[in-house]
Amino acid sequence: VKERGKNGYYFFNEQLNDKILRRVNIEKYLKMALKNNEFVLYYQPQIDLKSKKIDGFEALVRWNSPELGLVSPEDFISIAEEIGFIVHLGEWILRSACSYISGLNAKFNTNYTVAVNISMMQLLQDNFTEVVCSIIKETGLNPNLLELEITESVLMQSPEISIGKLQVLLNMGIKIALDDFGTGYSSLSYLRTIPLTTLKIDKSFIDDIIDEESKTSIVESIITLGHKFGLIMVAEGIEKEDQLKYLEKCSCNKIQGYLFSKPLCCSDLEKHIQQEQ
Ligand code: C2E
Ligand code: CA
Ligand code: CA
Ligand code: CA
Repeated sequence: VKERGKNGYYFFNEQLNDKILRRVNIEKYLKMALKNNEFVLYYQPQIDLKSKKIDGFEALVRWNSPELGLVSPEDFISIAEEIGFIVHLGEWILRSACSYISGLNAKFNTNYTVAVNISMMQLLQDNFTEVVCSIIKETGLNPNLLELEITESVLMQSPEISIGKLQVLLNMGIKIALDDFGTGYSSLSYLRTIPLTTLKIDKSFIDDIIDEESKTSIVESIITLGHKFGLIMVAEGIEKEDQLKYLEKCSCNKIQGYLFSKPLCCSDLEKHIQQEQ
């Protein structure tokens, strides 16, 4: 889309203009999207490496916009954070995920866990722990089956407040995972001071795990140290058989990646479960 400036010059090159226009549109339609029921949750299986069975799922949001088509979370979560909409959206995601997995477990007589991504702004809400508590009650999900995924940037923002809230959640039996581990600056010994149950090793460490010896030994050290600290170790972004073999050798607890399954819509997920049962 080209637009003429006051004096007849084109202000932007076309690509930049398109990018800005898309951003403006995402912002414009985002606020209505929740009311219009345009968000859907997909679920990516997490496999327990010992039993080779599905242990649980990570909930990943999708936006099916009639105006913009399918919008990736990479493109709308950060905008939702900037405009404060993530608080509403995040609560919807948490409630939907807990409610769905609770129902799924009842239907299939299973004990699947569900991991839900939590944004900084959500965690920093005064009533966040109360919201989580009421969603647990409302949906009947066993709190032991809920895992909240947070990132380092969340912790860095206001460490004392975050740590206090995470401890409250942990005391409720909820699990806390540090997502994208290795992409930030914190050392594992610093993380020891944070109430965590789980560490998710970022995909960037898993890529080329076999080709690059330095990376493979890093992953092994992370897993060993994580285990020393009593953490459940999860590796994400596993695409190749070689990576799986290596992670088994390192006694990684769980894996998640396209090698086993992409994120699935509910009906595909249920087909998948029926095959496994
Ligand atoms: P993330 O939490 O690190 O999620 C993992 C992303 O990697 C997902 O992308 C997933 O589909 C993708 N993935 C999983 N396995 C593989 C693999 O083997 N290969 C490759 N190439 N990719 C893999 P997705 O669903 O597009 O989500 C992107 C990011 O958007 C997430 O990164 C997370 O930061 C954010 N996000 C997604 N859903 C939510 C949500 O419900 N709430 C919040 N706050 N953020 C979310
Ligand atoms: Ca995640
Ligand atoms: Ca991640
Ligand atoms: Ca990520």
